[in-house]
Amino acid sequence: MKPSVDIDVDEESGIWQTDGLPMLYIPRHFMVNVHREVERTLGLSAYRQVLTEAGAKSAYYWCQKQTQTYDMSGLRVFEHYLERLTARGWGQFRLERIDEDFGGAEITLKNSIYALESRGAADHPTCYMFEGFFIGGLRYVAEARGLKPLDIECREVECEAMGFDRCRFEIKINHGAGTH
Ligand SMILES: [Zn+2]
Repeated sequence: MKPSVDIDVDEESGIWQTDGLPMLYIPRHFMVNVHREVERTLGLSAYRQVLTEAGAKSAYYWCQKQTQTYDMSGLRVFEHYLERLTARGWGQFRLERIDEDFGGAEITLKNSIYALESRGAADHPTCYMFEGFFIGGLRYVAEARGLKPLDIECREVECEAMGFDRCRFEIKINHGAGTH
């Protein structure tokens, strides 16, 4: 099948765009090799922290832009975000659960790029790149609901690269004292 995302290429500049956002199309092995090298150089913990911040910021911005482009609101924005990540080949994401009080959520992922590129069984979850994505996306949805400040934690607790049948992320959303 053909990709389900529209790609516009600017004739003059060569810039690729989807929904007005500049995009890149790069080999998966390049993406994962860079990821592995940075993890090795910085150490898992430091790299994870950097990625979480960068990923959360980008996801928040993306959700904000998509809300304007598609006139969406609420949880639909986040679901759309997961659909688009899936359509762009990062893996197959699924929102399994979101608590009614917005206190927690669970996301599963199959065929993650990091699991597909893993060589043999990994001894730790490899798809922590996405933790920040979920944090930023859910922060956007929560703030749009008037919930803040928030402390959102996300951990990949099972990973296909470790032999599980899919990756699983647990998310805890702590509503701060300023919740209204
Ligand atoms: Zn994984």
